[in-house]
This record gives sequence, structure tokens and C-alpha cells, in this order.
Amino acid sequence: YTADVQTVAATLLAHTGPLVLLAHENPDGDALGSVLGFARALRAHGREVYAPMAVPRYLRFMVAPGELNDLLTAWPPDALAVVLDVDNNDPARVAGAPLADFAGPVVNIDHHGTNRRTATAGIVDPSRPATAMIVADVIDAMGLPWSEPVATPLLLGLNTDTGSFRFSSVTPETFICASRLLAHGARLAWLNDELGQHPQTYYTLLREVLSTLEFRHDGRVVLARVDSAMLERTGATWEDVESYVSLLRAAEGARLAVMVKDFGPQVKLSMRSRGGVSAQNVAVAMGGGGHVPAAGATVPEPYAVMRPRLDEAIRTELERAEAGAEPSRPA
Ligand code: 5GP
Ligand code: MN
Ligand code: MN
Repeated sequence: YTADVQTVAATLLAHTGPLVLLAHENPDGDALGSVLGFARALRAHGREVYAPMAVPRYLRFMVAPGELNDLLTAWPPDALAVVLDVDNNDPARVAGAPLADFAGPVVNIDHHGTNRRTATAGIVDPSRPATAMIVADVIDAMGLPWSEPVATPLLLGLNTDTGSFRFSSVTPETFICASRLLAHGARLAWLNDELGQHPQTYYTLLREVLSTLEFRHDGRVVLARVDSAMLERTGATWEDVESYVSLLRAAEGARLAVMVKDFGPQVKLSMRSRGGVSAQNVAVAMGGGGHVPAAGATVPEPYAVMRPRLDEAIRTELERAEAGAEPSRPA
């Protein structure tokens, strides 16, 4: 599919029952911003909306009490599910409600190049740097009312997925969208001040994580590992780990940064790349997905077991990039 914005807007307007807005597990700024901005706009228009989401601590500044719903265990009658910012080829990544048990219509709005387009309908536009930007177009197409409380969370999504407008995914259109959100009152400086703060445990955990630091392939690959014992020792949480990968990527000469989250029986990889290297290719080789410059994977094996395959996937990708080939998938 990849229906146009008008068609999706018409589908959502035509549906009279409740709308259930869902995003990926462990929501980031784009997942939260897309759900919250869309929920506020729809509710202001008088629509019944469920927005079930567990918000990580670092994003709670954005949410007013009672705005987000508890996770749903059963579906309200006559619901339509809107899945935002999820590669929905992997329903296991959808949080908020049990999508596998849902027989009703599903609209998917997403910008992942690895999306396999398995929903009933939707918009999948990998040229957009954030799902929030597509939501802004849907809000316009539906004629929903704009306000600061709608614009700010959408700007949060755009801001976080573009690394504060620094990534190569940023286009002239991105600034046109940001400009419109600012014109609707979105609070950019406030967002960046809130997002720029870290709890003390972020720093004490970082001290331990940096002791695992590896520079490989002449510094082109930077890798570090974190496990639950480190979290216990420092009182930190997995949320504190979220932005470490961008610290690794900031190393001079780094083409690929890999943050290994070692959960014991399974490992989560969080990767960032630059300079012709595709984090997405490495992620796909490890059974995951994402975008060319930012990708991840969940590998159901202990670290010691999967590490040789990871090293092999990294070596293959570095060789491919050196040969000057284009990344194999769209961003
Ligand atoms: P992060 O490193 O910030 O967790 O994720 C970066 C990107 O990789 C995101 O676009 C996210 O969708 C994707 N990603 C992260 N973890 C996984 C995963 O376990 N499976 C898949 N398919 N994608 C992932
Ligand atoms: Mn996301
Ligand atoms: Mn996104």
C-alpha cells in the first residue's frame, strides 16, 4: 500500500468508533510525540481516543496526568488501531495493546525503510525523518484543530529523531514542518532543555560502561557493553543507557557505534553509523531493522554466543562500504 495522506485521513474520519493509538515498545520521542500530539488533536475534535503507553522517565515532562491510558488487555468495541512509528512486520515491537488478538482495521503510519507494509492500510514514507511529521500532515488533512499542546509533542518527535536537526535525514521539508509547528506555538527551547538533563545515575553508570570500551578496525568501530549487574551496582536503569550510543558515535574516526545491552539470555544492539557505513545492514544481518544511520536488533542469544556473528556482520559491512557500494536499503 502506502496510501496517500488524504486516504488515511478519510479512513480515520469515516470510522466512528474509538481510535487506539499504539507505538513501539520502549517509546522514544517520536513514538511518544506522535501518539500524544495525535491524541490531543483528535480529542480536541471530540473523538474517543485510547493512547495506552508506558512513558520512560526522561520523556515524562511532556505528559500531563491522565492523558495516556494504562496498557489495554482487551480491545474496546468497534475500535480502529493506529500503529505509529513501528516497523509493523514485527508485531512483537507494538506496545500498548495486544495487536496479535485484534481483528479490526489497522492503520500504520511509519517512516522505517524496513517496514514490510503488512497493516490494513497506512502511510510508510522513509523519506520522512520522523513519524511525527507524517502525523502533522494527517492532522492537516483531517482538519483537526492546531494548538501549542498538539504542536509541541510533534516537534519533540521531529527534534529527537533528527538528533536536534543534525542528521542527514533532515531536508528542506523538515524545516518547513518545524516552522509550521513553531508557528502553532511549539516550545523548542523548553524541549531541548528538558531533554538535555540526565539523572546522576546516568553518569555513575557511564563510568562503568566506559571501562568496556573497544576501538576496533582502526577506530572505525566503537563498541561498549552494559549489563544488569552494572545497573544494580550503580542504581541506574536501562533508560540511562539510551543515549550512550551517540557518545560512542561522537568518537573521531568512528563509522559505526555499537552499544551492546546484555540482558543475559538475550542481547539488544543499538547502533549508529556515518560515512557510507550502514547500521541498518548490520542490524538486518543480526535479525533487526531500523534506518541506515540508526538501527537495532534483539538477538535471542547470550552475548558470548552472538559476538562472533556480530563481528562478522560488522566486517562485512565495513568491506561493503569501503568498496563504495550504496547501502542496500532505503533510509
Ligand atoms: P535505538 O538504537 O534508538 O533503540 O533504535 C534505533 C533504530 O533501530 C530505531 O529506528 C528502531 O526502530 C530500530 N530498532 C531498535 N531495536 C530494534 C529491534 O530490536 N528490532 C528492529 N526491527 N528494529 C529495532
Ligand atoms: Mn521510534
Ligand atoms: Mn521514528
